[in-house]
Amino acid sequence: MKKSAVELKADLKAHVDFLAEAGAGFVLRGAEADVPRGLEPRAASSPAAAGLPSLAGAPPQTPAERKALEEIDRQVLACQLCPLHRLRTKAVPGEGSRSAELMFIGEAPGRDEDAQGRPFVGRAGQLLRKIIAAMTFREDEVYITNIVKCRPPDNRVPLREEEESCSPYLVRQIELMRPRVIVTLGKTPTDYFVPGRESMTARRGRWGDYRGIPVMPTFHPSYLIRNEGNRELKRMVWEDMQKVMALLGRK
Ligand code: URA
Repeated sequence: MKKSAVELKADLKAHVDFLAEAGAGFVLRGAEADVPRGLEPRAASSPAAAGLPSLAGAPPQTPAERKALEEIDRQVLACQLCPLHRLRTKAVPGEGSRSAELMFIGEAPGRDEDAQGRPFVGRAGQLLRKIIAAMTFREDEVYITNIVKCRPPDNRVPLREEEESCSPYLVRQIELMRPRVIVTLGKTPTDYFVPGRESMTARRGRWGDYRGIPVMPTFHPSYLIRNEGNRELKRMVWEDMQKVMALLGRK
């Protein structure tokens, strides 16, 4: 989809804004020495991947797989597997390119997402979309989704049972899309894909592995918003995203 001049200008502004907020002049210089040649040493494969085949080197997506992805969206929209369906306005399957090389995974829809049926459209979403633009990706080139597809009440962290009922949708989306890189936003999806006992501060920026797909954990954009004055957090997220860009040849 071609963008209009107004949209391109907005993208450029988001790019510049986020880089300025992240202190990117410093980050870009600092990160050059740190560009990973290929992948940094991989973390142990995630327990979420146990018993499931590797997706590395899988063949390109087939038309049948594209259809299966559309079917998943339909299933999510009608899903009644956990009690969250009773509270939702709209389920939120995900948005973007179904053959994206880069997938962002958040926790669960919030109020705005529940109302619109789209992921990351509230304040945190606006920041995520700025980060995506700063990474030189168009929104329709990446895929944005959540581990839980319906809004938990009062935006609480999803319960284990909710995650267990819902995560098979995400697992199947990943199997069919086979992104080259996954970015997990915050603790909930990071715990699922690259579990660890350390804090997010210690785990962010370190590559994990889900079935042969490199996983980059980083802070959730709402954490950046809650700590708005803390430029160091933005700098860290930008550093993490630079690793992703380097791996995808976007630098
Ligand atoms: N936070 C999330 O984790 N996901 C959304 O879709 C919106 C906010």
